[in-house]
Amino acid sequence: MRVKCVLCDQIDVLDDESLLAKRLRNRPIHTYMCEKCYERIAEKTKARLATGKFRVYRSKTSHDEW
Ligand SMILES: [Zn+2]
Repeated sequence: MRVKCVLCDQIDVLDDESLLAKRLRNRPIHTYMCEKCYERIAEKTKARLATGKFRVYRSKTSHDEW
């Protein structure tokens, strides 16, 4: 099956029998990211988690009284 990366519009061809192809077919919203974009996002997410930890901790302990 042919899939299009949602971020850079690159068309990739997936093996119909591959896990990823099956997973994409079973989902109503087909969101596919090519490897490059996936890695880019993964790195961003990791960075965000690292910096976001502090904020999450603060907002939990101090409730909404800012
Ligand atoms: Zn991409």
